[in-house]
Amino acid sequence: MNTVPEFDTAARVAQLMKQLCGFDGLASFVGGEAQKGDGDSIELYDPATGKLADTYADAGANVIDAAAAAAVQAQAEWWAKTASERGRIMFRIGQLLRENAEAIAELEAISAGRLIRDISGEVIRVAEMFEYYAGWCDKLHGEVIPVPTTHLNYTRPEPYGVVVQITPWNAPLFTAGWQVAPAICAGNGVILKPSELTPHSSLVIGVLCEKAGAPRGLVNVIAGAGPTAGQYAISHPETRLVVFVGSAAAGAKIAETAARNIVPCILELGGKSANIIFDDADLNRAIVGSQAAIFGGAGQSCVAGSRLLVHRNIHAEFVRRYAEATARIPVGMPLDRTALMGPINNLRQFEKVSLMVRRAAAEGGRIITGGERPEAFPEGYFYAPTVIDEVKRDMEIANEEVFGPVVGVTPFEDEDEAVAIANATNYGLAGAVWTQDVGRAHRIAGKVRAGTFWINSYKTINVMSPFGGFRKSGYGRSSGREALKAYSVTKSVWVETSATPTMSFSYSPA
Ligand code: NAD
Repeated sequence: MNTVPEFDTAARVAQLMKQLCGFDGLASFVGGEAQKGDGDSIELYDPATGKLADTYADAGANVIDAAAAAAVQAQAEWWAKTASERGRIMFRIGQLLRENAEAIAELEAISAGRLIRDISGEVIRVAEMFEYYAGWCDKLHGEVIPVPTTHLNYTRPEPYGVVVQITPWNAPLFTAGWQVAPAICAGNGVILKPSELTPHSSLVIGVLCEKAGAPRGLVNVIAGAGPTAGQYAISHPETRLVVFVGSAAAGAKIAETAARNIVPCILELGGKSANIIFDDADLNRAIVGSQAAIFGGAGQSCVAGSRLLVHRNIHAEFVRRYAEATARIPVGMPLDRTALMGPINNLRQFEKVSLMVRRAAAEGGRIITGGERPEAFPEGYFYAPTVIDEVKRDMEIANEEVFGPVVGVTPFEDEDEAVAIANATNYGLAGAVWTQDVGRAHRIAGKVRAGTFWINSYKTINVMSPFGGFRKSGYGRSSGREALKAYSVTKSVWVETSATPTMSFSYSPA
């Protein structure tokens, strides 16, 4: 049995929310104030114990209307500041994240069921996002175009206005920073709706933005559900851009609603990424990298390397060694610093993972390790790291996202077959190849249809580099310089410079 210390998650979450946000009970953060919702009750369960941790009311129309009004006003104030001033405030947001890093990491760990050892570094990565975009504020400018007329023609990147961002539960703090920082750098106001299951750390970001000097209401955070609060926010007449991070199924509904109002959308969706191991790879490194690829975050990562493609020559040896190493992965509670894998975030997801593994076995997959709840964790949503061998291309587990600690192994004969299998799903978010042949590494990187690709590595992403999907993994790019384009609209300004301009119409005083 695990040695779970007596720990009251609900009380500690409430204490941290009070310390970081000044909140008494979960609410939305609108126009610089906590606003309770008036919708249906939403229940939160502790992922590590399965016990009821909190309940709060869905945001409701009044809260979202107030958020939209606050965002409109704050965005105008924000855009009226000098670019350098906006940069200084954004840099201060980064500093506040650093100053509060320990408390934020603990809050994210216990409220979202994530490992403290992962999140401690993640809070700093989020601070870096605000610092990186702080530097961009006064470097965002248009260009002068040498048009073939007598005009001076120049462009101005301008903000959309109010941006609605909808994010999932797997990495709420990281995703909030990833989207809020470029949005406000480009001059927008934000209505952020995190997953109803994990609103806490996003609320902290909203509060810290205001504490750093951003106008009240520049970053509003809605505590509410997707089909209700999320849809209402997308349809709001003040919404000018929608950015969605989540499943392909919800993404399609969100894009449909936005399209009805002629509002553009950026979609960052799921994946079924291929991690390809050639027989000339450094196997020790490939084994470690392929564990991180899928078992980090208990597989609840959009870029998870959930399909392990292994060259036939090393398949048997690789799978044996990989499964042995996987069986030894220390599973533990969110605050256990020795753990490398924690629980799944929620019961629905836990049941989905269990069901997909059962179906994979029924379809002929061979479970080498895992495939059940670890004995030491009878409570909560823990699932053992699972390796399924002999996965065929037409099986569900080879095509559908599990979003849990489950990897399917498929052998391949040669480069062409590896690429064909890698490209055989509807997704295209990420992928990797492990080989010591530099030519092959780049050939494969050029042929696999994925927005992010690693060579002899897995999972590193950074705010400086663009990120996004191909095919059903979505469209549009977040992070890096590309995110600034995504969060801006370009205006073209024409100035007549000729003393005797030619025009087809003429004017003579009557
Ligand atoms: P989800 O799609 O169920 O929910 C994501 C968000 O959308 C939540 O805030 C939810 O409340 C909201 N939502 C759900 N239905 C909605 C609707 N009809 N209208 C408006 N909003 C709605 O996803 P999830 O289960 O929270 O997260 C897991 C998914 O997110 C996986 O598919 C994963 O791959 C994906 N993901 C993608 C990225 C990326 O950057 N590409 C990053 C993280 C997670």
